[in-house]
Amino acid sequence: MSEVLLQTHGLSKRFGGHAAVSEVDLSVRRGEIHCLIGPNGAGKSTLFKLIVGTHEASEGRIEFQGREVTGERPYQRVQQGMSIKMQAPSVFRELPVRQNIHIALQHHARLAELRREEDRLLELLDLAADADKPAGELSHGQQQWLEIGMALALKPVLLLMDEPTAGLSPEETFKTGELIQKLNAEGMTVLVVEHDMAFIRQIAQRVTVLHFGKVFAEGSIAEVIADPRVAEIYLGKTHEHH
Ligand code: ADP
Ligand code: MG
Repeated sequence: MSEVLLQTHGLSKRFGGHAAVSEVDLSVRRGEIHCLIGPNGAGKSTLFKLIVGTHEASEGRIEFQGREVTGERPYQRVQQGMSIKMQAPSVFRELPVRQNIHIALQHHARLAELRREEDRLLELLDLAADADKPAGELSHGQQQWLEIGMALALKPVLLLMDEPTAGLSPEETFKTGELIQKLNAEGMTVLVVEHDMAFIRQIAQRVTVLHFGKVFAEGSIAEVIADPRVAEIYLGKTHEHH
């Protein structure tokens, strides 16, 4: 059994009387790509926000690397090794791509290593040829990758992403999957909220299905896809929006 990096215990979030997330026990193991899926409104983004700390839990606890972080602010969780790729890209549009990476890296790499680390990330993100372009001139997909790069610059233990393929073409989506797999091959643990099933099939090692705020099913991607109950809650929901 590999080490559990992130564990939630009975985690709940209520908005008024409505339980958006209800008594969720989620384990994310070190070294895995773990996907959180479920129909629209299932509570995925709310659970994500509880984990990163932008929402306060109504009940339950969150442990990260064996340490309780339930009451901690998002920046404190980031200091402990969580790094978050937010849904909409928020790169510095007027600054060159390399400068964006440089800014993200500056407190996390030694001066002598900065340039080499910039080059490594630019290469990894397939942005080396565009390093001197203003980030605002990149395609939407490239901006998403740059944003992933900026999250990586913090040298996280756990990379968290909410719908990293939103608004991307099928080709860009596939390339994002390849990038995540490359990071994982280097040892990165990744927690991804997604509803694009093709993308989930491409990258997921472990899957948790949320439905009405509760864990509905969990297992390997093969197990979850083979579960007729999961197919049922997705029936007629192939055109879901977020
Ligand atoms: P998902 O990401 O799976 O589509 P969400 O976590 O965004 O689902 O939403 C789960 C439920 O919680 C939905 O019914 C949604 O309307 C409700 N909800 C989410 N955020 C809020 C909020 N800030 N205030 C009130 N209700 C919310
Ligand atoms: Mg969502």
